[in-house]
Amino acid sequence: MTKKYATWCLALMAFASVKAEVIVSSPDGRISVDFEMKDGKPTYSVLYDGQVAIEPSPLGLKTNMGDYTQDLVWDKERLKKGETSGSYILPSMKEGQEHEYRYNVAELQFTRTPRPAAQGDNRPQRRRGNNGPVMGVEFCVNNRDVAFRYTVLTQGDTRSCVITEEASTFQVPANALTFMAPQSNPMTGFARTMPSYETKYTLGEPVGKNGWGNGYTFPCLFEVPNADKAKALWILVSETGTDGDYVGCRLLGGNGGEYRIGFPMEGELNGWGCTSVQMALPGKTPWRTITLGHTPANVIETTVTWDLVEEKYPASKPYHLDYGKGMWSWIIGMDSSCNYDEQKRYIDFAAAMGYRSLLVDALWDVQIGRERIAELSRYARSKGVGLYLWYNSNGSWNDAPQSPKGIMNNPYERRKEMKWMQENGILGIKVDFFGGDKQPMMQLYEDILTDANDYGIMCIFHGCTLPRGWERMYPNYVASEAILASENLHFSQGFCDAEARDCGTMYPFTRNAVGSMDFGGSALNKYYSASNNRGSRRITSDVYALATAVIFQSPVQHFALAPNNLTDAPAYAIDFMKTVPTQWDEVRFIDGYPGKYIIMARRSGDKWYIAGVNAMDTPLKQTLTLPMLEGKSTVSLYQNGEVKPVKVSRKQTIKVELPTNGGVVIVE
Ligand code: CA
Repeated sequence: MTKKYATWCLALMAFASVKAEVIVSSPDGRISVDFEMKDGKPTYSVLYDGQVAIEPSPLGLKTNMGDYTQDLVWDKERLKKGETSGSYILPSMKEGQEHEYRYNVAELQFTRTPRPAAQGDNRPQRRRGNNGPVMGVEFCVNNRDVAFRYTVLTQGDTRSCVITEEASTFQVPANALTFMAPQSNPMTGFARTMPSYETKYTLGEPVGKNGWGNGYTFPCLFEVPNADKAKALWILVSETGTDGDYVGCRLLGGNGGEYRIGFPMEGELNGWGCTSVQMALPGKTPWRTITLGHTPANVIETTVTWDLVEEKYPASKPYHLDYGKGMWSWIIGMDSSCNYDEQKRYIDFAAAMGYRSLLVDALWDVQIGRERIAELSRYARSKGVGLYLWYNSNGSWNDAPQSPKGIMNNPYERRKEMKWMQENGILGIKVDFFGGDKQPMMQLYEDILTDANDYGIMCIFHGCTLPRGWERMYPNYVASEAILASENLHFSQGFCDAEARDCGTMYPFTRNAVGSMDFGGSALNKYYSASNNRGSRRITSDVYALATAVIFQSPVQHFALAPNNLTDAPAYAIDFMKTVPTQWDEVRFIDGYPGKYIIMARRSGDKWYIAGVNAMDTPLKQTLTLPMLEGKSTVSLYQNGEVKPVKVSRKQTIKVELPTNGGVVIVE
């Protein structure tokens, strides 16, 4: 090769690609985001302790103003670096104590490669919108998370755009294992109500698949194994800050470790409504989040979902005063239990347990009626219990026949109903059977929440999308299902058989790590039926039920207990269920592996609850080191069907044994 030719090659390479450079690092320096332009395409990568977690991956948006995934120029002059920090108190999330956060920030802007004017376009280049920045990317990095979002900028007189696609990709190492819930086919399942984030997580499958053909719902967990265990990586990818101004996204699997942001499927909402986003300019997209660590601790303890979003309206009342435990009859007694007498019996049961609420499920409008619901609500309130009422979100988006319907989708009827609820002391609503993640449906969630706040009503969603920072954005938002939840224990013995593997040891690492989860579990019945002698059989232990009351987090828990449990369940279990908190100040991962076992700790006030469950075929024997018990001499150990006081050693170690499908709880 001649010297001249080599120089020419080098010059060409320099034009094509700017060498990757660290654009922003975490405050502790362990996480860094590298950035480079590759042939006009913005590309980022993420390193943790110098190890590649996200390999060079494209960024960008396709809009109807132009394709901002290629032919871009990084305007380095406009690079802004700084930090964002603050604190907030959010009693509905996993760490309800005053919460401080600090992120290092880098903001990048891009212009388009100048192009010659099209034939007949005599406008100066400036008017053709070619020379100013068109898009920005903002990275925020703290000691366990990377988050990024896009800004789409006004161009000339254009103040509105449609985003048709995101290039945002997460290229994980090729040897990564996946723990992800496949996105379902649209308009499938019960009464064509899918997608509703109710599919089973994969258990350590290799990369290179695309779920059932439609990718995966958030959050998506990856393990990058390493022969040196201390160098393994755990990566949780999700999104936050999504409201009625965007669509709910999913992750599409490509070749090897390639995973790209996908917009909703065309078939959602019965094929009606487009899959793209309409945005006012300048506009910002939701955040894409990546949580990293050598163990799953950062995944379980992350708060990135809430740190970077803002409250969308002020709370009309202090909702947290009404958080707490509740009952629902439907999980054991199904539709026929939604009658006046049975609900009254459950109110008495809730009162006997000292619980705050009762959820009256579907069909109450026909099986009880509004007047008698008002009567029930008065009766409940006389016992310190508040009612949640079930509603169908429909509408026209699926075939779910359960009533009441035609209310939550209509602004006038909805507000009239909520006024009636307020007059009758109703605590909240559970709205079910939503229809996918297109923008009009995301707007409906926001509309329901916003109206409900005007009447002091709390909201729980079922058959629904993943909440994306909603605990902080909407102060009357409580929790969502968005998971294969307890109803499946009633419907299927197979689901019962795999409960510990598919739920107890999986959801704390995934779904519940990014939002309050209304699982509706902790049953103490032996069978999922009111007679408690037929139906699907619970194979998890009573201590497992207590442990998941701690492991699964939602500020309002509707447990699957039944009035007969006052006499047929062990007294220690009932006593525990009377006192277990639903609001937590702090969370700590202790040990575990998704689908195998989990041991974690939550603090409420000055009291720590350490809880674990085991899904493995063999009992799990461990000596736990629990520094949070320093200064305590004795704790209560719930294990093998009994509760015993045990001494805390000087080094705060406690020996535990978790049977297959069983659990452990340690309480101060
Ligand atoms: Ca459901």
